[in-house]
Amino acid sequence: MTNVDVIIAGAGIWGSTLARRFAESGRKVLVLEKRRQVGGNVRCETDAETGIEIHSYGSHIFHTSLPEVWKFINRFTTFNGYQHKVLARYKGKTYFLPLGLTLVNSFFGVELTPAELPAFMADEAHSSAIFDAFFRGYTSKQWGRAPEEVDPSIIKRVPVRATYDVNYFNDYCQGIPLDGYNSIFEKLLDHSNITVRCDAGVRLENGAFKVDADDLPRVPLYYSGPVDALFDYRHGVLPWRTLKFETEKLDIADYQGTSVVNYTEAEVPYTRIHEFKHYHPELKDIMAKPKTIVMREYSAEWKLGDEPYYPIDTAQSRELLAAYKAEAEKIPNLILGGRLGAYKYFDMDKSIESALKIDIGE
Ligand code: UDP
Repeated sequence: MTNVDVIIAGAGIWGSTLARRFAESGRKVLVLEKRRQVGGNVRCETDAETGIEIHSYGSHIFHTSLPEVWKFINRFTTFNGYQHKVLARYKGKTYFLPLGLTLVNSFFGVELTPAELPAFMADEAHSSAIFDAFFRGYTSKQWGRAPEEVDPSIIKRVPVRATYDVNYFNDYCQGIPLDGYNSIFEKLLDHSNITVRCDAGVRLENGAFKVDADDLPRVPLYYSGPVDALFDYRHGVLPWRTLKFETEKLDIADYQGTSVVNYTEAEVPYTRIHEFKHYHPELKDIMAKPKTIVMREYSAEWKLGDEPYYPIDTAQSRELLAAYKAEAEKIPNLILGGRLGAYKYFDMDKSIESALKIDIGE
């Protein structure tokens, strides 16, 4: 472990982007990944029998409006042009999200024009009916609490439009990598200045970073693991929501006709069903096969040992995070980032943006 200029702990999208930048600027980079494989929660696996790419940690659709991020990621893959649409199933009927003319007109059986929609939705009875059908149940399942207790910025992630546009995202650049998500990480980390070690969780012991019994070189360390774990949870445990997935292979060509259907009623225990073959419409042979793979997603309160997915933003968790950030600042050359290190939900593009913005002294 000599001749290392920088250490990246965690080979998710933030760490791998940083590793690449450092490597291209001529620095020797050691990437240490706690899991057996790189790629963080973007990691996929391909089902050997059907060839279907399964997003092991839930659906990931690359979308961005950041030109520098789009340019960067396109060096490592080509996207297939997939545009994400999400349907919502409520009381046995299926609607197009997000909240727009398609949803409102079909839900109420009306024919509003774009100009008429705002006044219609300003009526409390209409907006409450929409909220109760599509947001109340889903949000309470997703967050384990009433929507009134959830930070409004989370629900605002879902766009509201006065058009028939049913694209789930506002971003004009979107897609799924033609050669799969894993290949992005293989290419990002494939550089003569990068060494990758998996099964290598970094820990802090008496002010020194270690992997197994080895002391790490005292060089800048970019850490994207859980920040509270790094400090042995000494101030308390940061809260998360976790997800549980139930995957099933079915002997039919197509289960739901689309990639994601949200089940917005509180009574249905899962939040959504993913059907992965729809992310690759260009793979005609796979589409035509009389088999498909679906994954039901359930949201649950996280406890130590579970996979953390969504940070829970409360006054208490903010205070806890501030205490850990203060600890981290006392350690020279330690930089925190990524979803776990920053305790912040990032879309993939925002994670890349954050890694691209770090001053690496090029
Ligand atoms: N949401 C909802 N109904 C839906 C979709 C989303 O109530 O059908 C709310 C829910 O609180 C969710 C938030 O909007 O946590 C953000 O939704 P998004 O689809 O962005 O969630 P993600 O895919 O990031 O889990």
